[in-house]
Amino acid sequence: MNTDTGMVNAYREGAVDLDPETRRMIDRRRELLGPAYRLFYENPLHLVRGEGAWLYDHEGNAFLDAYNNVTSIGHCNQRVVDAIATQAGVLATNTRYIHGSILDYAERLLATMPDAIGHMMFTCTGSDANDLACRIAQAYTGGRGIVVTETAYHGITQSVSEFSPSLGKNVALGPHVRTVEAPDVYREGAAMPDRFAESVAAAFADLKRHGIEPAFFICDGIFASDGVFDGPAGFLKGAVDAAHDAGALYIADEVQSGFARTGDALWGFQRHDVVPDIVTMGKPMGNGYPVAGVAVRPTLVQEFGRNARYFNTFGGNAVAVAAAAAVLDVIENESLLENARVIGDYLRVGLQALAESYESIGDVRGAGLFIGVEMVSDRASKSPDTATATAVVNGLRDEGVLISACAKTANVLKIRPPLIFTRENADHFLTAIKRVLDRLA
Ligand code: PMP
Repeated sequence: MNTDTGMVNAYREGAVDLDPETRRMIDRRRELLGPAYRLFYENPLHLVRGEGAWLYDHEGNAFLDAYNNVTSIGHCNQRVVDAIATQAGVLATNTRYIHGSILDYAERLLATMPDAIGHMMFTCTGSDANDLACRIAQAYTGGRGIVVTETAYHGITQSVSEFSPSLGKNVALGPHVRTVEAPDVYREGAAMPDRFAESVAAAFADLKRHGIEPAFFICDGIFASDGVFDGPAGFLKGAVDAAHDAGALYIADEVQSGFARTGDALWGFQRHDVVPDIVTMGKPMGNGYPVAGVAVRPTLVQEFGRNARYFNTFGGNAVAVAAAAAVLDVIENESLLENARVIGDYLRVGLQALAESYESIGDVRGAGLFIGVEMVSDRASKSPDTATATAVVNGLRDEGVLISACAKTANVLKIRPPLIFTRENADHFLTAIKRVLDRLA
């Protein structure tokens, strides 16, 4: 993994020969957009169109998108496209004016949360949501101390990048931030939940020893960038209790695990039967339209609301809310929570069957349509096999199937199909990965 740039599956100059058109586009990007952007894959994709679970490149080649957590109810979902277009043709304005749709949507969303969560604030991106959550938590607790997992990703603003260790060693963590090892149940087994809770307690104790009072423990409900750690369901409870015992809040980052992704509940934290103090969300919320938000216990935001005014020009604008409401409609009307569970289980069973033939598959895990497949060079020692994971990701790309990788050692295949994935899509995926594993064997 390229930890210097903090990105798994990043395109590396010279890794493979590229066609002249792709080469020219990459050079042009660099010239115009500068050096900070990263492309995916050894042979980057030039996509021009999407429909449902499929993406199409500039030459008309089709790719099955099994890495989709933004347009999660399908590329160019007609209902969402219509909702955006209709609202944009009527009114596109902001929270400085009374508007009914933001209230209706907030009411619907809050009804999906634990009773304790009573307010909904709107932002444009997940980073923006975590930044606001951080401000609220630090204002409420009066502390600054933050505990995260060691390969967590929470976003890109100055304050959020300070608690996003997966950005790599060149992006400094804040002096008020401590990391704990990911809840790696594959290696730790039944000892994991207690160890994880103790690590969170120890991290807050260490902050206090250094004169830094606790503010919050934040984790992504499926530990996506840490390597996809779903279970056992309920394991998070000890860590949340440890945070609360230390006087810290628990922020559930649902940017990845929210909106039905994990198959058994709308929100990832619900699998663990814990009640967050703050919930942040984004990515699939508008199926591609930028909309994100923060749901919060009312008491936490009272003083913040009095002392700091909050206006986010595009956050919660009427078009964003129309897109978000349409997404919730589709999730409900098309039973996508159930689909995520059923097709997710089907994919996991198929992958587990492959693990019987291919020694390089050490573990198959995940919840709903968020799946991690850990590639190892030796099953006994469980040593991470980054090279094979990279080869599978790029091999699948050449087969017309898109996934990526994650984890500190970049050896876990990150498989995250749209919630509309069908059994046929899953079979297509399983056939393609089998072909790639055969080639690598
Ligand atoms: N939290 C998590 C768990 C994420 O995965 C991401 C994005 N990958 C973010 C926050 C930040 O969201 P955004 O890119 O919309 O700022």
